[in-house]
Amino acid sequence: MRADQTSTKNYQLFSDYHTHPQGHRVQSYTQALLQPWADSARRLGLLDIAFTDHDRYHAGIDFDEIERLRDRNPDLQIRAGIELDNDPIHSAAGRNWIEKHWDKLDFVLGSIHFLDRDDQMFDSVPDGAAQFEGRNIDAIYANYFSRVREIAATGLIDCLAHLDLVKNVEGMRVSVPVTERIAGADGDCRGDERIASPRQSL
Ligand SMILES: [Zn+2]
Ligand SMILES: [Zn+2]
Repeated sequence: MRADQTSTKNYQLFSDYHTHPQGHRVQSYTQALLQPWADSARRLGLLDIAFTDHDRYHAGIDFDEIERLRDRNPDLQIRAGIELDNDPIHSAAGRNWIEKHWDKLDFVLGSIHFLDRDDQMFDSVPDGAAQFEGRNIDAIYANYFSRVREIAATGLIDCLAHLDLVKNVEGMRVSVPVTERIAGADGDCRGDERIASPRQSL
């Protein structure tokens, strides 16, 4: 099929493992917070969802509330998860939290949102792009993928989130295709292999 052709197949997404019920701030898990996510999943025809708030909001995660939600929505597979960032300020505590709650976590996303600045995700819109002004783009990509390898090497993550996030920043054009950068990485950072196999099925 050509790249500009539209598929005639009707693909149906069956799962979503990247959701932020707390919406980028600490909001304790309650049925009122979580049930709309189950309702929305059902409406979209999803069978399987994971809650993966960023690790800096781990204080809001409540495994008992997830269990209650499972009881109330037996038709859905509902997984307890988290998105582990490389947040220089918060993610050390996030990693500790993940290790402490390892047995209750079904799924851990790993993601690189931080490069030069400790206090700003580089993909913040529109301010994050300022981190890259006047910089060598290939060097930024190399830096980004070295951090991807680092987070994969923690052994804590089941899947890498938005592996090519660095290319989303406005003005980022690279001389080497992202796929070659990934293939050239020492160590296996191909998160796609693990998407379909969460560590623990419920
Ligand atoms: Zn996310
Ligand atoms: Zn993310």
